[in-house]
Amino acid sequence: MQLNEELVAANQELYLAKQKAEERDKLKSAFLANLSHEIRTPMNAILGFSDLLADKDISYEHRSEYVNIVQKSGKHLLGIINDLIDVSKIETGQVSPYYSEISLQTFLKDLYNTLSVTIPEDKTIDFSLELHDIDSSSKIISDEVKLRQIIINLVTNALKFTETGFVKIVCSYRDQSQLECKVIDSGVGIAEQYYSVIFDRFRQIEGDLAIKKGGSGLGLAISKAYAEMLGGTITVSSEIGKGSTFTLSIPCYNEYKKPKKHIKKSEHDENYFGNNETILVAEDDDINFYYLTKIMSKTNYKIIRALNGEEAVTIVKNNPDVKLVLMDIKMPKMNGYEATNIIRSLDASLPVIAQTAYALSDEQDKIRQTNFTDYISKPLKRDVLLSLIKKHINS
Ligand code: ADP
Repeated sequence: MQLNEELVAANQELYLAKQKAEERDKLKSAFLANLSHEIRTPMNAILGFSDLLADKDISYEHRSEYVNIVQKSGKHLLGIINDLIDVSKIETGQVSPYYSEISLQTFLKDLYNTLSVTIPEDKTIDFSLELHDIDSSSKIISDEVKLRQIIINLVTNALKFTETGFVKIVCSYRDQSQLECKVIDSGVGIAEQYYSVIFDRFRQIEGDLAIKKGGSGLGLAISKAYAEMLGGTITVSSEIGKGSTFTLSIPCYNEYKKPKKHIKKSEHDENYFGNNETILVAEDDDINFYYLTKIMSKTNYKIIRALNGEEAVTIVKNNPDVKLVLMDIKMPKMNGYEATNIIRSLDASLPVIAQTAYALSDEQDKIRQTNFTDYISKPLKRDVLLSLIKKHINS
Protein backbone atom coordinates (compact mmCIF):
# COMPACT_ATOMS: atom_id res chain seq x y z
CA MET A 1 0.00 0.00 0.00
CA GLN A 2 2.74 2.39 1.07
CA LEU A 3 4.80 1.63 -2.00
CA ASN A 4 1.73 2.29 -4.11
CA GLU A 5 1.16 5.66 -2.46
CA GLU A 6 4.78 6.62 -3.01
CA LEU A 7 4.50 5.62 -6.65
CA VAL A 8 1.33 7.71 -7.10
CA ALA A 9 3.05 10.72 -5.50
CA ALA A 10 6.16 10.28 -7.66
CA ASN A 11 3.95 9.96 -10.72
CA GLN A 12 2.12 13.15 -9.84
CA GLU A 13 5.43 14.98 -9.41
CA LEU A 14 6.68 13.73 -12.76
CA TYR A 15 3.44 14.76 -14.42
CA LEU A 16 3.72 18.31 -13.02
CA ALA A 17 7.38 18.57 -14.00
CA LYS A 18 6.50 17.40 -17.51
CA GLN A 19 3.73 19.98 -17.76
CA LYS A 20 6.08 22.72 -16.61
CA ALA A 21 8.74 21.68 -19.10
CA GLU A 22 6.17 21.63 -21.92
CA GLU A 23 4.90 25.08 -20.93
CA ARG A 24 8.47 26.40 -20.89
CA ASP A 25 9.12 24.83 -24.25
CA LYS A 26 5.98 26.46 -25.71
CA LEU A 27 7.02 29.83 -24.30
CA LYS A 28 10.50 29.50 -25.77
CA SER A 29 9.12 28.64 -29.23
CA ALA A 30 6.70 31.58 -29.10
CA PHE A 31 9.56 33.79 -27.93
CA LEU A 32 11.85 32.67 -30.73
CA ALA A 33 9.15 33.26 -33.35
CA ASN A 34 8.51 36.71 -31.89
CA LEU A 35 12.18 37.47 -31.58
CA SER A 36 13.02 36.49 -35.13
CA HIS A 37 10.31 38.91 -36.27
CA GLU A 38 11.66 41.62 -33.97
CA ILE A 39 15.22 41.17 -35.23
CA ARG A 40 14.33 40.76 -38.89
CA THR A 41 12.34 44.00 -39.08
CA PRO A 42 15.17 46.42 -38.19
CA MET A 43 17.74 44.19 -39.93
CA ASN A 44 15.76 44.30 -43.20
CA ALA A 45 15.52 48.07 -42.89
CA ILE A 46 19.28 48.34 -42.37
CA LEU A 47 20.10 46.11 -45.34
CA GLY A 48 17.43 47.62 -47.60
CA PHE A 49 18.24 51.25 -46.92
CA SER A 50 22.00 50.84 -46.94
CA ASP A 51 21.54 49.27 -50.39
CA LEU A 52 19.67 52.40 -51.47
CA LEU A 53 22.43 54.53 -49.96
CA ALA A 54 24.97 52.87 -52.23
CA ASP A 55 23.32 54.59 -55.21
CA LYS A 56 25.49 57.63 -55.93
CA ASP A 57 22.70 59.54 -57.67
CA ILE A 58 20.33 59.94 -54.71
CA SER A 59 19.43 63.41 -53.48
CA TYR A 60 20.79 64.90 -50.27
CA GLU A 61 17.32 64.74 -48.61
CA HIS A 62 16.90 61.07 -49.44
CA ARG A 63 20.40 60.28 -48.26
CA SER A 64 19.86 61.85 -44.84
CA GLU A 65 16.44 60.20 -44.54
CA TYR A 66 17.95 56.77 -45.29
CA VAL A 67 20.85 57.34 -42.91
CA ASN A 68 18.32 58.26 -40.25
CA ILE A 69 16.38 55.03 -40.81
CA VAL A 70 19.55 52.92 -40.73
CA GLN A 71 20.63 54.55 -37.47
CA LYS A 72 17.22 54.18 -35.84
CA SER A 73 16.98 50.54 -36.86
CA GLY A 74 20.49 49.89 -35.60
CA LYS A 75 19.63 51.39 -32.22
CA HIS A 76 16.43 49.35 -32.08
CA LEU A 77 18.39 46.18 -32.78
CA LEU A 78 20.97 47.06 -30.16
CA GLY A 79 18.12 47.57 -27.66
CA ILE A 80 16.77 44.07 -28.32
CA ILE A 81 20.21 42.51 -28.02
CA ASN A 82 20.89 44.38 -24.78
CA ASP A 83 17.56 43.18 -23.34
CA LEU A 84 18.42 39.60 -24.24
CA ILE A 85 21.86 39.82 -22.68
CA ASP A 86 20.45 41.51 -19.58
CA VAL A 87 17.88 38.73 -19.15
CA SER A 88 20.43 35.98 -19.53
CA LYS A 89 22.79 37.70 -17.11
CA ILE A 90 20.02 38.19 -14.56
CA GLU A 91 19.11 34.52 -14.90
CA THR A 92 22.65 33.36 -14.36
CA GLY A 93 23.08 35.64 -11.36
CA GLN A 94 25.74 37.82 -12.97
CA VAL A 95 24.14 41.17 -12.21
CA SER A 96 24.52 43.05 -8.96
CA PRO A 97 23.59 46.59 -7.93
CA TYR A 98 26.11 49.41 -7.89
CA TYR A 99 25.10 52.08 -5.40
CA SER A 100 25.84 55.76 -5.67
CA GLU A 101 24.26 58.98 -4.56
CA ILE A 102 21.58 60.24 -6.95
CA SER A 103 20.30 63.83 -7.08
CA LEU A 104 16.69 62.97 -7.61
CA GLN A 105 15.42 66.18 -9.15
CA THR A 106 18.16 66.37 -11.79
CA PHE A 107 17.98 62.64 -12.45
CA LEU A 108 14.19 62.65 -12.98
CA LYS A 109 14.13 65.85 -15.02
CA ASP A 110 16.91 64.61 -17.31
CA LEU A 111 15.12 61.31 -17.75
CA TYR A 112 11.84 63.09 -18.47
CA ASN A 113 13.52 65.30 -21.11
CA THR A 114 15.14 62.31 -22.75
CA LEU A 115 11.85 60.42 -22.88
CA SER A 116 9.85 63.45 -24.11
CA VAL A 117 11.58 63.36 -27.46
CA THR A 118 10.68 59.70 -28.01
CA ILE A 119 6.92 60.32 -28.34
CA PRO A 120 5.97 59.52 -31.94
CA GLU A 121 4.80 62.58 -33.88
CA ASP A 122 1.47 60.98 -34.83
CA LYS A 123 0.42 60.61 -31.18
CA THR A 124 -1.17 63.37 -29.12
CA ILE A 125 -0.08 62.51 -25.62
CA ASP A 126 0.24 64.93 -22.75
CA PHE A 127 3.46 63.71 -21.11
CA SER A 128 4.27 65.18 -17.72
CA LEU A 129 6.47 64.80 -14.64
CA GLU A 130 5.11 65.50 -11.15
CA LEU A 131 7.50 65.70 -8.22
CA HIS A 132 6.11 65.83 -4.68
CA ASP A 133 8.45 66.97 -1.89
CA ILE A 134 11.42 66.43 -4.19
CA ASP A 135 13.71 69.41 -4.69
CA SER A 136 17.33 70.17 -5.54
CA SER A 137 18.49 68.88 -2.14
CA SER A 138 16.73 65.48 -2.45
CA LYS A 139 19.22 62.64 -2.69
CA ILE A 140 18.88 58.89 -2.55
CA ILE A 141 21.40 56.09 -2.57
CA SER A 142 20.53 53.59 -5.25
CA ASP A 143 21.73 52.16 -8.56
CA GLU A 144 21.24 54.95 -11.06
CA VAL A 145 21.67 52.82 -14.19
CA LYS A 146 19.10 50.26 -13.08
CA LEU A 147 16.66 52.84 -11.77
CA ARG A 148 16.87 54.69 -15.08
CA GLN A 149 16.28 51.53 -17.04
CA ILE A 150 13.22 50.58 -14.98
CA ILE A 151 11.59 53.99 -15.49
CA ILE A 152 12.50 54.03 -19.19
CA ASN A 153 10.90 50.59 -19.64
CA LEU A 154 7.71 51.61 -17.83
CA VAL A 155 7.35 54.91 -19.68
CA THR A 156 8.20 53.34 -23.05
CA ASN A 157 5.40 50.82 -22.51
CA ALA A 158 2.98 53.54 -21.37
CA LEU A 159 3.72 55.57 -24.51
CA LYS A 160 3.48 52.45 -26.67
CA PHE A 161 0.07 51.38 -25.37
CA THR A 162 -1.48 54.88 -25.26
CA GLU A 163 -2.79 56.51 -28.44
CA THR A 164 -4.23 59.73 -26.99
CA GLY A 165 -4.60 61.24 -23.53
CA PHE A 166 -1.75 61.34 -21.05
CA VAL A 167 1.28 59.62 -19.61
CA LYS A 168 2.52 60.87 -16.23
CA ILE A 169 5.49 60.11 -14.03
CA VAL A 170 4.60 60.92 -10.43
CA CYS A 171 7.32 60.65 -7.78
CA SER A 172 7.06 61.08 -4.04
CA TYR A 173 8.48 59.76 -0.77
CA ARG A 174 6.50 57.29 1.27
CA ASP A 175 7.34 57.61 4.99
CA GLN A 176 10.87 58.94 4.23
CA SER A 177 12.34 55.48 3.69
CA GLN A 178 10.73 54.62 0.36
CA LEU A 179 10.74 56.38 -2.98
CA GLU A 180 7.64 55.77 -5.02
CA CYS A 181 7.52 56.41 -8.78
CA LYS A 182 4.22 55.87 -10.54
CA VAL A 183 3.93 55.71 -14.31
CA ILE A 184 0.30 56.39 -15.13
CA ASP A 185 -1.21 56.23 -18.60
CA SER A 186 -4.63 56.60 -20.20
CA GLY A 187 -4.01 53.77 -22.67
CA VAL A 188 -5.56 50.41 -23.56
CA GLY A 189 -5.33 48.98 -20.03
CA ILE A 190 -4.60 45.43 -18.87
CA ALA A 191 -7.13 42.80 -17.75
CA GLU A 192 -6.61 41.65 -14.16
CA GLN A 193 -5.86 38.06 -15.19
CA TYR A 194 -2.67 39.32 -16.87
CA TYR A 195 -1.32 41.34 -13.93
CA SER A 196 1.26 38.74 -12.96
CA VAL A 197 1.76 37.17 -16.40
CA ILE A 198 3.14 40.36 -17.97
CA PHE A 199 6.09 40.36 -15.56
CA ASP A 200 7.16 36.90 -16.72
CA ARG A 201 9.97 36.63 -19.23
CA PHE A 202 8.93 36.56 -22.87
CA ARG A 203 5.26 37.08 -22.03
CA GLN A 204 2.93 39.54 -23.71
CA ILE A 205 -0.82 39.83 -23.58
CA GLU A 206 -2.02 37.53 -26.33
CA GLY A 207 -3.74 39.06 -29.32
CA ASP A 208 -3.16 41.32 -32.29
CA LEU A 209 -2.11 44.35 -30.26
CA ALA A 210 1.15 42.80 -29.00
CA ILE A 211 2.05 41.75 -32.56
CA LYS A 212 1.18 45.18 -33.94
CA LYS A 213 3.10 47.06 -31.28
CA GLY A 214 6.16 44.81 -31.37
CA GLY A 215 8.39 44.11 -28.39
CA SER A 216 10.05 41.03 -27.05
CA GLY A 217 8.16 40.67 -23.77
CA LEU A 218 11.34 41.20 -21.75
CA GLY A 219 11.05 44.80 -20.54
CA LEU A 220 8.86 44.18 -17.51
CA ALA A 221 10.73 41.02 -16.51
CA ILE A 222 14.00 42.97 -16.50
CA SER A 223 12.38 45.88 -14.65
CA LYS A 224 10.95 43.60 -11.99
CA ALA A 225 14.26 41.80 -11.49
CA TYR A 226 16.07 45.14 -11.17
CA ALA A 227 13.49 46.54 -8.75
CA GLU A 228 13.89 43.44 -6.56
CA MET A 229 17.66 43.73 -6.76
CA LEU A 230 17.32 47.24 -5.33
CA GLY A 231 15.15 45.87 -2.52
CA GLY A 232 11.96 47.20 -4.07
CA THR A 233 8.80 46.14 -5.92
CA ILE A 234 6.78 46.93 -9.04
CA THR A 235 3.01 46.54 -8.99
CA VAL A 236 0.30 47.22 -11.55
CA SER A 237 -3.33 48.29 -11.39
CA SER A 238 -5.39 48.96 -14.45
CA GLU A 239 -8.78 49.24 -16.05
CA ILE A 240 -9.41 48.07 -19.60
CA GLY A 241 -9.91 51.02 -21.93
CA LYS A 242 -9.08 53.55 -19.21
CA GLY A 243 -5.36 53.05 -18.58
CA SER A 244 -2.75 51.54 -16.30
CA THR A 245 -0.63 52.53 -13.33
CA PHE A 246 2.72 50.87 -12.69
CA THR A 247 4.14 51.64 -9.24
CA LEU A 248 7.83 51.27 -8.51
CA SER A 249 8.74 51.40 -4.86
CA ILE A 250 12.37 51.33 -3.74
CA PRO A 251 14.03 51.89 -0.38
CA CYS A 252 16.27 54.93 0.04
CA TYR A 253 19.39 53.27 1.45
CA ASN A 254 21.89 55.13 3.61
CA GLU A 255 25.02 53.11 2.86
CA TYR A 256 27.33 54.73 0.39
CA LYS A 257 29.80 53.56 -2.22
CA LYS A 258 31.99 55.65 -4.47
CA PRO A 259 29.88 57.44 -7.11
CA LYS A 260 30.56 56.65 -10.73
CA LYS A 261 32.79 58.77 -12.90
CA HIS A 262 31.08 61.02 -15.40
CA ILE A 263 32.23 61.24 -18.95
CA LYS A 264 32.68 64.84 -19.98
CA LYS A 265 30.46 65.79 -22.90
CA SER A 266 31.37 67.35 -26.19
CA GLU A 267 33.59 70.27 -26.87
CA HIS A 268 34.58 71.69 -30.26
CA ASP A 269 36.53 69.38 -32.51
CA GLU A 270 39.24 71.95 -33.18
CA ASN A 271 40.49 71.38 -29.66
CA TYR A 272 41.26 67.73 -30.19
CA PHE A 273 43.94 67.50 -32.80
CA GLY A 274 46.52 65.92 -30.54
CA ASN A 275 50.30 66.12 -30.83
CA ASN A 276 51.32 62.87 -32.45
CA GLU A 277 50.75 60.95 -29.21
CA THR A 278 50.46 57.19 -29.67
CA ILE A 279 47.17 55.54 -28.76
CA LEU A 280 46.95 51.78 -28.56
CA VAL A 281 43.57 50.39 -29.60
CA ALA A 282 42.91 46.83 -28.45
CA GLU A 283 40.11 45.66 -30.72
CA ASP A 284 39.64 42.26 -32.35
CA ASP A 285 36.78 43.24 -34.64
CA ASP A 286 37.87 44.65 -38.03
CA ILE A 287 34.71 46.69 -38.62
CA ASN A 288 34.85 48.27 -35.16
CA PHE A 289 38.51 49.11 -35.68
CA TYR A 290 37.82 50.56 -39.13
CA TYR A 291 35.04 52.72 -37.63
CA LEU A 292 37.43 53.93 -34.95
CA THR A 293 40.12 54.88 -37.44
CA LYS A 294 37.48 56.81 -39.40
CA ILE A 295 36.29 58.84 -36.41
CA MET A 296 39.93 59.52 -35.46
CA SER A 297 41.01 60.36 -39.00
CA LYS A 298 41.02 64.15 -38.60
CA THR A 299 43.18 64.14 -35.50
CA ASN A 300 46.92 64.01 -35.00
CA TYR A 301 46.94 60.99 -32.77
CA LYS A 302 48.96 57.99 -33.92
CA ILE A 303 46.85 54.84 -33.74
CA ILE A 304 48.33 51.39 -33.30
CA ARG A 305 46.30 48.23 -32.96
CA ALA A 306 46.37 45.09 -30.83
CA LEU A 307 44.16 42.20 -31.92
CA ASN A 308 43.72 40.78 -28.44
CA GLY A 309 44.52 41.43 -24.79
CA GLU A 310 47.78 39.50 -24.90
CA GLU A 311 49.07 41.57 -27.81
CA ALA A 312 48.04 44.76 -26.01
CA VAL A 313 50.16 43.78 -22.99
CA THR A 314 53.18 42.98 -25.22
CA ILE A 315 52.89 46.26 -27.10
CA VAL A 316 52.70 48.27 -23.86
CA LYS A 317 55.75 46.39 -22.53
CA ASN A 318 57.81 47.13 -25.67
CA ASN A 319 56.57 50.55 -26.63
CA PRO A 320 57.10 53.37 -24.13
CA ASP A 321 55.51 55.81 -26.59
CA VAL A 322 52.00 54.54 -25.87
CA LYS A 323 50.23 57.35 -24.07
CA LEU A 324 46.77 55.83 -23.74
CA VAL A 325 45.05 52.48 -24.29
CA LEU A 326 41.52 52.10 -25.61
CA MET A 327 40.52 48.64 -24.47
CA ASP A 328 37.77 46.44 -25.86
CA ILE A 329 36.38 44.02 -23.26
CA LYS A 330 35.57 40.85 -25.13
CA MET A 331 38.62 39.67 -27.02
CA PRO A 332 40.22 36.31 -27.83
CA LYS A 333 43.23 34.94 -25.90
CA MET A 334 42.99 37.50 -23.11
CA ASN A 335 40.00 39.70 -22.34
CA GLY A 336 40.08 43.42 -21.61
CA TYR A 337 39.76 43.01 -17.82
CA GLU A 338 42.80 40.75 -17.54
CA ALA A 339 44.89 42.79 -19.99
CA THR A 340 44.06 46.00 -18.11
CA ASN A 341 45.05 44.54 -14.76
CA ILE A 342 48.43 43.51 -16.17
CA ILE A 343 48.99 46.82 -17.96
CA ARG A 344 48.11 48.81 -14.87
CA SER A 345 50.48 46.74 -12.78
CA LEU A 346 53.26 47.48 -15.31
CA ASP A 347 52.53 51.19 -15.46
CA ALA A 348 49.91 52.58 -13.10
CA SER A 349 50.03 56.01 -14.72
CA LEU A 350 49.11 54.84 -18.23
CA PRO A 351 45.41 55.63 -18.80
CA VAL A 352 43.31 52.68 -19.95
CA ILE A 353 39.81 53.43 -21.21
CA ALA A 354 37.30 50.58 -21.46
CA GLN A 355 34.94 50.35 -24.39
CA THR A 356 31.67 48.85 -23.28
CA ALA A 357 28.34 47.97 -24.87
CA TYR A 358 25.84 50.61 -23.86
CA ALA A 359 23.12 49.65 -21.32
CA LEU A 360 24.79 46.49 -20.17
CA SER A 361 24.61 47.81 -16.68
CA ASP A 362 26.34 44.94 -14.95
CA GLU A 363 29.24 45.17 -17.38
CA GLN A 364 29.49 48.83 -16.46
CA ASP A 365 29.58 47.77 -12.80
CA LYS A 366 32.43 45.36 -13.51
CA ILE A 367 34.27 48.04 -15.43
CA ARG A 368 33.94 50.43 -12.52
CA GLN A 369 35.36 47.74 -10.23
CA THR A 370 38.30 46.96 -12.53
CA ASN A 371 41.29 49.21 -12.64
CA PHE A 372 40.18 51.24 -15.68
CA THR A 373 40.84 54.94 -15.79
CA ASP A 374 37.50 55.59 -17.45
CA TYR A 375 35.02 53.98 -19.81
CA ILE A 376 33.14 54.81 -22.97
CA SER A 377 29.93 53.27 -24.32
CA LYS A 378 29.68 51.61 -27.71
CA PRO A 379 28.67 52.64 -30.34
CA LEU A 380 31.45 55.18 -29.91
CA LYS A 381 30.53 58.85 -30.35
CA ARG A 382 33.32 60.91 -31.87
CA ASP A 383 33.10 63.95 -29.62
CA VAL A 384 32.79 61.90 -26.41
CA LEU A 385 35.77 59.75 -27.39
CA LEU A 386 37.95 62.70 -28.33
CA SER A 387 37.04 64.56 -25.19
CA LEU A 388 37.97 61.54 -23.07
CA ILE A 389 41.29 61.04 -24.85
CA LYS A 390 42.14 64.70 -24.46
CA LYS A 391 41.22 64.64 -20.79
CA HIS A 392 43.41 61.65 -19.95
CA ILE A 393 46.37 62.33 -22.22
CA ASN A 394 46.73 65.85 -20.89
CA SER A 395 46.17 65.09 -17.25
P1 ADP B 1 7.16 44.27 -24.52
O1 ADP B 1 6.61 45.66 -24.31
O2 ADP B 1 8.51 44.26 -25.13
O3 ADP B 1 6.19 43.37 -25.18
P2 ADP B 1 7.09 44.08 -21.63
O4 ADP B 1 7.62 43.01 -20.73
O5 ADP B 1 7.59 45.45 -21.41
O6 ADP B 1 7.42 43.60 -23.10
O7 ADP B 1 5.53 44.09 -21.52
C1 ADP B 1 4.80 42.87 -21.58
C2 ADP B 1 3.38 43.12 -22.00
O8 ADP B 1 2.67 43.82 -20.98
C3 ADP B 1 3.24 44.00 -23.24
O9 ADP B 1 3.41 43.28 -24.44
C4 ADP B 1 1.79 44.48 -23.07
O10 ADP B 1 0.91 43.49 -23.50
C5 ADP B 1 1.66 44.62 -21.54
N1 ADP B 1 1.86 46.02 -21.08
C6 ADP B 1 2.96 46.52 -20.49
N2 ADP B 1 2.81 47.82 -20.17
C7 ADP B 1 1.57 48.17 -20.57
C8 ADP B 1 0.80 49.39 -20.51
N3 ADP B 1 1.29 50.52 -19.96
N4 ADP B 1 -0.46 49.36 -21.01
C9 ADP B 1 -0.96 48.23 -21.55
N5 ADP B 1 -0.30 47.05 -21.64
C10 ADP B 1 0.95 47.01 -21.15
